[in-house]
Amino acid sequence: MSSTASIPASLAQIRARIAEATDRANRPAGSVTLVAVSKTHPAEAVVEALRAGQAVFGENRVQEAAAKFPALRPDWPALRLHLIGALQTNKAREAVRLADVIESLDRPRLATALAAAMAQEARRPAVLVQVNVGDEPQKAGVPRAEAADFLRACREEHGLPVTGLMCIPPVEGDPRPHFDWLAGLAARHGLGVLSMGMSADFEAAIACGATHVRIGSAIFGSRG
Ligand SMILES: *Cc1c(COP(=O)(O)O)cnc(C)c1O
Repeated sequence: MSSTASIPASLAQIRARIAEATDRANRPAGSVTLVAVSKTHPAEAVVEALRAGQAVFGENRVQEAAAKFPALRPDWPALRLHLIGALQTNKAREAVRLADVIESLDRPRLATALAAAMAQEARRPAVLVQVNVGDEPQKAGVPRAEAADFLRACREEHGLPVTGLMCIPPVEGDPRPHFDWLAGLAARHGLGVLSMGMSADFEAAIACGATHVRIGSAIFGSRG
């Protein structure tokens, strides 16, 4: 994962590691989607990845995504954009316009804003509820204890197209108990999408059932 390795070579390496981890977990080939996190990297880097066959990208800021992705869509119809960062309510409408998946729904006011934005835009990107699995005070995500009620509200009261869950476990310690907990919550609520695992821990996440892994630095190099 040296920052000087080429994007196609890094992508090939990550895809091979995803395939191995999927196989080790006795899961079907192709059941894990790589979300290539291109934040802070220029549109040229995204194009390099697209040329190497990568279709799904993640960005964590709406403004940055707006500057890079709409211009690429005409030439790359398979492109899918996931918004994975903390989302302000005043950016909800632009997020709904831009994204194919919004991974970071974590509070009631944002649920209200996204539901209104989807009605205004007549566009319904899939939504993941982000859970603060470590209950860390500084971190985004709905607290564990509130996750079940929040999920019900998002689906039943706000009518949002919630398809799954997302988490960023604590940096310290074993992430697997957090991944397992999130997988259990998804199963109890009949949710098929589990976005968990980053450059440092995606193989563990795949062993615990991740359907989407979000990988940035191991593909595009370190962020400056
Ligand atoms: C940046 C980011 C990633 C990718 O992190 P890397 O360590 O570069 O792989 C994944 N998920 C979220 C929410 C991010 O903000």
